[in-house]
Amino acid sequence: MKKDMTITYEVDGALYINVTNRCTNNCEFCIRKNGDGAYGSDSLWLEREPTEEEILDSVFGRDLSAYREIVFCGYGEPSIRLDVIRSVALRIKEKCPLPVRINTNGHSSLYHGYDTASAFCGAFDCVSISLNTPSPERYDEICHPVRSGSYEAMLDFAREVKKYVPSVLLSVVKDFLTPEELDECHRIADNLGVTLKVRDYIS
Ligand code: SF4
Repeated sequence: MKKDMTITYEVDGALYINVTNRCTNNCEFCIRKNGDGAYGSDSLWLEREPTEEEILDSVFGRDLSAYREIVFCGYGEPSIRLDVIRSVALRIKEKCPLPVRINTNGHSSLYHGYDTASAFCGAFDCVSISLNTPSPERYDEICHPVRSGSYEAMLDFAREVKKYVPSVLLSVVKDFLTPEELDECHRIADNLGVTLKVRDYIS
């Protein structure tokens, strides 16, 4: 493995896991457009995707008592490697009491071609899904998904995964929304019975 391949990195007291650079969106606000890393990390561009064992070595090579949470995130869409992240999350849970979250664009079921929601059961305590916009039209403008129907698929996934994990969040980047659009995103989250996380654009 190349020495500078960054599989895990720290953000605000949490340990983040970087399993892929592949993604099914190309969001206007993607942190990858502005640099190589995130929150002061080393480059998160992977020479190749790490194996399950390499991910576990990187996680357990750290003092996990120093963290409040473990987060599967990017540089890319982690659910593209669904089997790997589920297995890694379960193996982390066997050994460590930290809560495990995934930050996802919610395209898992669309990408894999079947309802993947149950695969998150027992492995993840929290699924944070990027809602991003209040409508499919705005989603296509801002997120440039690879496949049509991605917005609807993301909302379907949110509805389904709620049955399997204790906490589901929707998130938006407020700088890309009008106040009216933000209100509509709150309504969508309320109707789904989940919390809306509103965050700032990271330049
Ligand atoms: S879904 Fe996430 S990783 Fe993919 S382009 Fe959008 S912000 Fe970037």
